[in-house]
Amino acid sequence: MISRREVAQLIENMGGKILITSHKNPDGDAIGSALGWFNFLRKLKSDLKVILYDDVPYFYDFLPNVGKIVSSKKIDEQFDWAIILDVSEVSRTGFDSIPAKNSLVIDHHVTANPESTFAIVEPTMPSTCELSLEIMKFIGEDLIDYEVALPIYTGMVTDTGSFGYSSTTPQTLRNAAFLLEKGGINPYTVIKNLFERNRLTRIKLLQKVLETLDFALDGKIAHITLYQRFLEETGAGIEETEGFIRYPRSIEGVEVAVFFKEYEPGRWKVSLRSKGSIDVAAISSKFGGGGHVMAAGFEYSATEGLEKLKEQLFYAIGEALSQ
Ligand code: AMP
Ligand code: MN
Ligand code: MN
Repeated sequence: MISRREVAQLIENMGGKILITSHKNPDGDAIGSALGWFNFLRKLKSDLKVILYDDVPYFYDFLPNVGKIVSSKKIDEQFDWAIILDVSEVSRTGFDSIPAKNSLVIDHHVTANPESTFAIVEPTMPSTCELSLEIMKFIGEDLIDYEVALPIYTGMVTDTGSFGYSSTTPQTLRNAAFLLEKGGINPYTVIKNLFERNRLTRIKLLQKVLETLDFALDGKIAHITLYQRFLEETGAGIEETEGFIRYPRSIEGVEVAVFFKEYEPGRWKVSLRSKGSIDVAAISSKFGGGGHVMAAGFEYSATEGLEKLKEQLFYAIGEALSQ
């Protein structure tokens, strides 16, 4: 592991063709950090490309240069450097491999297991965007203008639950203030674009998903389920489920919320949220995933349904809650 200052130096010295990428199903932190670095490095480097495995959800379309992000299931070119953001493992980028001579991971997942030449992983940082900002400051504060500040601020907002999660620190708010001032951002621009442009398809999907609400462990676990057919019935995309897990989590007495999402027939993405009494990253690790103490996930394949998984998962959560 290298220091923030060393990472800054490494980035300053990067030459040749540079690839910026992040995890599949990109969230605000993935897209924000990728675009933040792209817009920052545009001023210093000539050969830069952002490639993500999945499409960028429409609610990020207000970010400067979002149209420059290439969505592709494979990377055909060879790069000298890859900057891999908000993820450490190649498999989670979606790509079979990252075709670059050297690579640098910038990440904040507690379960991170970097598969790169260089890595900086700071699990106490609430977002990769904020960690990126701290590194950018070593390279040059003057380069942090509106087009850098807006995506970085956006990723900070989404990964901290609008500066509400316990990962938020005094320094996070100082960094947010710095971005508002330096980048001339209006915070409502971000909130309005992210959260106040829901399509009716999303609300219809939410309706169906909330009908599946169920409980386990005397109400300490609340879970919701998205079946493939819900997407067909409503015309919504899976990215429109962003934020649904806040509803089961918000219920009094619930300690852990679980969202089972059938993203392809028989293939599931499971999201977990804790209210602080247990570490859901540790639970997710047992099922081949990872994440953060309060927010984590894993993938699961089952054609026969979820009953077996539910039994194992709820047992593991129950054990953790009783410790
Ligand atoms: P999500 O529930 O998809 O919003 O993910 C919550 C957190 O868990 C994020 O920080 C993800 O990076 C992490 N996470 C989700 N799925 C996986 C996985 N399959 N492997 C490792 N980490 C994951
Ligand atoms: Mn992320
Ligand atoms: Mn993140």
